[in-house]
Amino acid sequence: MSFVDSILVIEDDPRIAGIVADALHETARWVRRAGSAAEGFAAIREMPPDLIVLDLGLPDLSGPNVCRKLREETRVPIVVLTARHGERETVQVLNAGADDYVTKPFSAPVLVARVQAQLRRSQLYQSYTPDIIRVGDLELDLGRRVATRAGRELGLTPVEWNLLRALATNAGRTLTHQQLFHAVWGNVFGDAQQNLRVHITHLRRKIETVPAAPTIIVTEPGVGYRCEIDPYPAMYRPADRSVG
Ligand code: CA
Repeated sequence: MSFVDSILVIEDDPRIAGIVADALHETARWVRRAGSAAEGFAAIREMPPDLIVLDLGLPDLSGPNVCRKLREETRVPIVVLTARHGERETVQVLNAGADDYVTKPFSAPVLVARVQAQLRRSQLYQSYTPDIIRVGDLELDLGRRVATRAGRELGLTPVEWNLLRALATNAGRTLTHQQLFHAVWGNVFGDAQQNLRVHITHLRRKIETVPAAPTIIVTEPGVGYRCEIDPYPAMYRPADRSVG
């Protein structure tokens, strides 16, 4: 069963492009390939895809620049393939408008799970009701500024509420420390990571079943945090997922 019509894979390494296309063949009816940023833009204009998988190491344009230009053309989800230890560039592409990333070498089930989470997320947006956000059994009433889990009110502080609202309204997206800091405190300078870590810890104590092994707000080490639309099935759960 296909989720969507078309996924575009922009990757210059034909071997990796082939692996990605194979992994996604049940997720989209057509998985199209482009070997450079220029080919990618041409493919988008020819037929707009439902999602883009983007390699950061393209021969003709840097990752953050590709992302910025893609965002001028399309609002569809962008899942980036990044190099291990490439946190700095990962943060740059997320800030430039990418939705999520997978680190190479990646496992096919993780890639598929991330891509399908983004597709679910963009479908949620189409039936989006602005007043109530639900993530699993977590419910945020944006009008009343009240968060409940399984019907129980969570008693969040204003900072925790703003943090959870930013994460939940972007559920499925990885938000960088900078994006979260901006959403909660605006343009305040400070140690964003340290500040966030403290408040995330407090927030997890209130919303997670096991705060030391969070399934709602997960850490992306060196990059930021993501609110999961629904927790990974156990078999897909990456072993190295940090709890910090
Ligand atoms: Ca490459």
